[in-house]
Amino acid sequence: MRVKLARHAGFCMGVRRAMEIVLAEANRNKLPIYTYGPIIHNNEVLKLLESRGVKVINDIEEVKEGTLVIRAHGISPQKRAQLKATNLKIVDATCPRVAKVQSIIKYHTRKGYTPIIAGEENHPEVIGLVGYSDNKAYVIRSPSDVKELPHLDKVILAAQTTQDWALYQEIKSAVKERFPEALIFDTICDATVSRQKELEELSKEVDGFVVVGGYHSGNTKRLVQVAGKSGLPVFHVDTPDKLDRSALSSLNVVGVTAGASTPNWLIKEVVREIEGIKSIREKRFFIFIKNLLKYLFLSNILVAIGAFSLSYGLTPVHGMIWDWKNPLLSFFYIYAMHVINRYLDRASTTYNEPEMIKFYKNHSLFLAITSLGAIIGSYYLAYSMGKGVFLLIAILTLIGILYSISIVPKRFLSWLRYRKIKDIPGSKTFSIAFAWSIVIGVIPWLRQNALIGLFPLISFIFVFALIYIRSAIFDIFHMQGDLIVGSETLPIIIGEKRALSVLKILSIGTTLFLILIACLYPEGGFFGILSLCPLSLLICITVYEKRWLRPGIRFEAMIEGSVILSGLLALIWNLSK
Ligand code: SF4
Repeated sequence: MRVKLARHAGFCMGVRRAMEIVLAEANRNKLPIYTYGPIIHNNEVLKLLESRGVKVINDIEEVKEGTLVIRAHGISPQKRAQLKATNLKIVDATCPRVAKVQSIIKYHTRKGYTPIIAGEENHPEVIGLVGYSDNKAYVIRSPSDVKELPHLDKVILAAQTTQDWALYQEIKSAVKERFPEALIFDTICDATVSRQKELEELSKEVDGFVVVGGYHSGNTKRLVQVAGKSGLPVFHVDTPDKLDRSALSSLNVVGVTAGASTPNWLIKEVVREIEGIKSIREKRFFIFIKNLLKYLFLSNILVAIGAFSLSYGLTPVHGMIWDWKNPLLSFFYIYAMHVINRYLDRASTTYNEPEMIKFYKNHSLFLAITSLGAIIGSYYLAYSMGKGVFLLIAILTLIGILYSISIVPKRFLSWLRYRKIKDIPGSKTFSIAFAWSIVIGVIPWLRQNALIGLFPLISFIFVFALIYIRSAIFDIFHMQGDLIVGSETLPIIIGEKRALSVLKILSIGTTLFLILIACLYPEGGFFGILSLCPLSLLICITVYEKRWLRPGIRFEAMIEGSVILSGLLALIWNLSK
């Protein structure tokens, strides 16, 4: 079944920021961590936070020490003063956009205005906003409520940030009519508006909607209402097992969106579950291609094909045109290391690639046999290439396997902060790029006893940069899961925006560097052609930034395709010689 995923589905900026703050506190602190009310309305996420030692409290009296996080909805100034009087460490995760509405209300209340707030009276955000008006604000839900308001001299109108945009337009007209001098503020958050408007556009391209999110989440329920206005069937689910498979099978294209409190891994699970439903109208050929791609991706064969291609992609520069040993060695080594490390690192895979965990459970024997076979195959090939290569592969395999295993005993933790190599901040992306560049960029030159020279260095730099960018893009996709398990990848250390800028600079830099080498050294002309690979990754980064495509099998295949491209370019080059 085809799925069209809304570009703005899932965590909004405020919720993501609040989650990051809570998880960073959980990773850093030994003292108990509490959130004042549920951080988001999603049971799956709340269960998960509880497993990380984050508890929800609804009354300050419940706790005496620890850290208390104020959630994205914010709180009233009166409550804030109460919190400050306790011994708790207060961490404020109020969304900056909510904070802006709070300051509008506070400022105008001081100037003698009476705020009217369009929203739900009992919603925590609205309770906080009313507090900023010294409890003078009136909360209304619909245009008809405007008639019930008493006579007011100076009025301002603001909305709860997650209100229905169309309804707020009607409320604005009603307020303007009754209080012509009223100051009106458009405080519905962009995240809400774009989500709702996007549904209207999407309704022209799909046969029905699935809205993913907690049954108690206000903004998810509003998305269900907005989707319902299209007249198409709408299914609201909080987990993939709630999907009505038989009803969905009568549809051809399903639009999927999710509330601002729905985590990525849940959206991914639902999307893949729907994609797996056989539509009665779907063509067999497309089902086959989709399933094949999915199988190659989940089994790690796709990434190994990338290694094979990249290794073959360098043949024009090291002159071993029809040699298959290097590409095969790369295939075996990368396949085995990915299968083993994904298994050892299954805590983060559970959140980042939930479907992969299922695949590992269902195909454990196949993966165990093939990864063992791949290790033996890589050792055999390395041995046939010489002692130096064999030793290098043996060391890399050992480091690769030890990467996710605790190697530092607990008693040394007072000296060393980390028990696993993987725990060192930024180590994951660096180690992957380093291992690839040794196997693909260095070994072919070592085999020819030509390790010292400019081209071996450029090969190393090219493979390192390409794989670093590729892996860091995946790190960006996996931020939510990595945060949960406390894995400190580049985007977690410096933030998503900065990580994207770093990757763009690196892609442009690598592209220009390869072109420069091709211009300076005619025998290295093929490096110029290989510059299309980092350029292709730059396109992937832009596609992600502009939200033209959401992370999923198609996008992941596109990223791996940038690596596979090197092999195709080399094949064309070699055939043309
Ligand atoms: Fe902030 Fe908007 Fe998210 Fe509300 S919906 S938490 S205002 S980003």
